[in-house]
Amino acid sequence: MKDQTSDDELQAIRESVTKLCADFPGEYWRELDRARGYPTDFVKALTAAGYLGCLIPEQYGGSGLGIREAATILETVHRSGGNGAACHAQMYIMGALLRHGSEEQKQAYLPGIADGSLRLQAFGVTEPTSGTDTSRIRTTAVKDGDQYVINGQKVWTSRAEHSDLMLLLARTAPRDAGKKPHDGMSIFLVDMRETLGNGLEIKPIRAMLNHNTTEVFFDDMRIPADSLIGEEGKGFRYILDGMNAERILIAHECIGDARWFIEKSSAYAKERVVFDRPIGQNQGIQFPIAQCYAETEAAALMSAKAADLFDAGEPCGAEANMAKLLAADASWHAADTCMQTYGGFAFAEEYDIERKFRETRLYRTAPISANLILSYIAEHVLGMPRSF
Ligand SMILES: Cc1cc2nc3c(=O)[nH]c(=O)nc-3n(C[C@H](O)[C@H](O)[C@H](O)COP(=O)(O)OP(=O)(O)OC[C@H]3O[C@@H](n4cnc5c(N)ncnc54)[C@H](O)[C@@H]3O)c2cc1C
Repeated sequence: MKDQTSDDELQAIRESVTKLCADFPGEYWRELDRARGYPTDFVKALTAAGYLGCLIPEQYGGSGLGIREAATILETVHRSGGNGAACHAQMYIMGALLRHGSEEQKQAYLPGIADGSLRLQAFGVTEPTSGTDTSRIRTTAVKDGDQYVINGQKVWTSRAEHSDLMLLLARTAPRDAGKKPHDGMSIFLVDMRETLGNGLEIKPIRAMLNHNTTEVFFDDMRIPADSLIGEEGKGFRYILDGMNAERILIAHECIGDARWFIEKSSAYAKERVVFDRPIGQNQGIQFPIAQCYAETEAAALMSAKAADLFDAGEPCGAEANMAKLLAADASWHAADTCMQTYGGFAFAEEYDIERKFRETRLYRTAPISANLILSYIAEHVLGMPRSF
């Protein structure tokens, strides 16, 4: 359990991240967007500043900060016009290793992840045929002596080409062998430096945003048996643990995006003169922006509440889910309002609005779509019958 972070501490993080981000202005992100390139220099700078290892305890070389600080780092990156998606997973994927790995595994990997010499940015869960129903994944891991043999396919495995390690979810027992459909799945820390070209193939997916996402194919890929994290068959439970952290961090990225859009919209509404008056003098322009501001501030309160609960070691499933839902809706609404406020100019690449509009849309769908969050709230918070 961690003490609640003071506002002064958070403000200091905001100021230093804003300063770092000033070296990576709009044209940096625009160039990468065009080329679908990876922001290597930005990721190096964040790593060198110790931000990506912030959730790793000090004994393993990290700075041992809480989710509130991590969320503030990512929110500030997004508020500055950048995109933390290139590396946000380096912050939270290691949670499964930290909570469920052996001491030997933690000693072997966490210090490298903390100092950035090892990239753990790839999380292989989603498959083409299973969709959101993770219990139906088909990738299998079969024990053979002191190895596991992996066969199957993942899709939307982001950053796999820019990562050394992948946290992989695979079936070690059939779906109907356990008491529950999610039993029988296990997680593995795969060293892709060893397996790429040796049973592992990665194919980039050209997507509507620059997210370095890929399809990954496993064809008799052999990995050492000690790549297994925790016990066989409990993998799904282990990754569920980490999902609250992921949702809280992504909610804060959305808050950062929303605030960036609102700032842009209100500034432009004040300066753009049409029919001899600033467009922001028209209620048709100012009310939508004010509405977005109110929605964003409400989502920010829920996101901060979820983060504080998480850091205090309290249950926060409902709050983390609501934070992600409200923040993704707020950023999407703010993005659309910004497009409308800028009129035709919103479509020009040089203003970064169309890029951020594409980027922020992702979070209504991934890492969990809005409907699935609503069904979680309906079932687990409100006690209504399970709908699927
Ligand atoms: C750019 C990008 C990056 C991603 N990165 C990763 C990654 O790094 N690792 C990874 O594992 N995955 C990743 N994903 C996958 C992402 O988590 C999934 O796309 C997302 O969870 C939705 O799953 P799906 O695409 O299979 O949709 P489906 O499960 O096919 O669902 C399609 C639609 O139907 C709705 N739906 C389905 N079932 C129900 C129901 N019972 N009730 C109501 N509505 C329902 C969903 O909400 C959704 O709107 C990424 C996706 C994208 C687009």
